[in-house]
Amino acid sequence: MAYKPTIGLEIHAELKTNSKMFCGCKNDPDEKRPNYNICPVCTAQPGTLPVANEEAIKKVIKTGLALNCKIAKDSKFDRKNYFYPDLPKGYQISQYDQPLCEGGYLDIEGHKIRITRIHLEEDTGSLMHPEGADYSLVNLNRAGMPLMELVTEPDITSGKEAREFAEELQTIFKYLGVSDADMEKGQMRVEVNISISKDKKLGTKVEIKNLNSFKVVEKAVDFEIKRQEEVLEAGEKIVQETRGWHDKKEITFSQREKEEAHDYRYFPEPDLPPMHFDDKFIEDIQKTMPELPEQKRERFKKEYGLEDASVDFFIVNKDLSEYYEKVVSEFEEWTTEEEKGEAHKKASRLVANYLISDVQGLMNGKEFVEKEFKITPENFAEFVKMIYKGEISSKIAKIVLTEMFNTGADPSDIVKDKNLSQITDSGEIEKMIKEVIAANPKAVDDYKAGKGNSIQFLIGQIMAKSRGTASPDVAKEILLKLLTR
Ligand SMILES: [Zn+2]
Repeated sequence: MAYKPTIGLEIHAELKTNSKMFCGCKNDPDEKRPNYNICPVCTAQPGTLPVANEEAIKKVIKTGLALNCKIAKDSKFDRKNYFYPDLPKGYQISQYDQPLCEGGYLDIEGHKIRITRIHLEEDTGSLMHPEGADYSLVNLNRAGMPLMELVTEPDITSGKEAREFAEELQTIFKYLGVSDADMEKGQMRVEVNISISKDKKLGTKVEIKNLNSFKVVEKAVDFEIKRQEEVLEAGEKIVQETRGWHDKKEITFSQREKEEAHDYRYFPEPDLPPMHFDDKFIEDIQKTMPELPEQKRERFKKEYGLEDASVDFFIVNKDLSEYYEKVVSEFEEWTTEEEKGEAHKKASRLVANYLISDVQGLMNGKEFVEKEFKITPENFAEFVKMIYKGEISSKIAKIVLTEMFNTGADPSDIVKDKNLSQITDSGEIEKMIKEVIAANPKAVDDYKAGKGNSIQFLIGQIMAKSRGTASPDVAKEILLKLLTR
């Protein structure tokens, strides 16, 4: 019988607020100057008092509402006591037995992952270890930044599911505007609790920390499942401990044995009053709820007839999806009544394809930011209209799009200036084709001798002569007519 893995996640996300959690210091994760955004409160000077940041509390509640949680009517902050050089107070203000949110869930491909709780706490400072130095430096810019912690029930069953859950959560955080949740910048940190067992009884739990990308979350879980299987198969016992991830060797390794909750000596924070939230407070937050990724996924499929892969791309690339919707609505101003319906979907797909493949190619790995993007939605819509109406070929479209991307010019101006409009005048094309026939007697003889391939060669010559502006369909039709005369 195979071992069944039981996996739960603990996810920390730095909240996007103007100021820190308990003082007025700027909450700026991009501040490079060490110890710049600090004050007597977040550096734990004697006699200072914390004041809770309402914006941060609202953001945690908003997250809880998006994840189907029950929002606490009464809540409070607690002290979690431990010593570490980046924690000047000697304790962290966190929440112990009355978290802001409890009992939610998130569906991952039809599998319900339950969320135990979401609570609010403050982040610690950070330590820097200069290379070659025999000392470490403390930077308190991060100390006191609002940090949201989300804990799941052990409902996850594989590395893939752990990754998908964390990715969807990141997308939700971004849609809600509660956190930028950049894993590489440490704005979102994922810890995994994992045990394996052959029966209903849970095995010994191991915690994996310092997972800095979604890919690593999946790899670490899969590695740990295998490692624990091997330990048990060898007749040994799993040690309850915290393990880290070794990026180069792609293995987990033992860091320290796990503390129990009572080691932290939690007690209610005496300097902060307990919190009470009435229905109106929570309803007002509910009113600010934006469209969530799952709702948008459904809408994009229905409204634009896009395939799953395109929809997923847009869901994750939120700014690009908003630009996409602007282009489609511009496009709609040109469509006639009878073009609605299927034609609308066809055009929507055309816009999506150009944005997802060609524009991404031009962006060359850079993230889409509408402010920096030179093509206006109006111009993009006009560009797609020209393709849709057959005014430019797909080959010319690439030239036009590249020019638009680089200069922001109007597509019709580019076509005019560069003389790129598709020649559909059959008289003009016929003249060109006669020249091509005269210049390529061998290919013409080959075609007449039954070599079908040579027709492609001749069309290629016509396209070259017209610099791609001849309509290939019209050209082929005339060419065949002339050859069979
Ligand atoms: Zn401060």
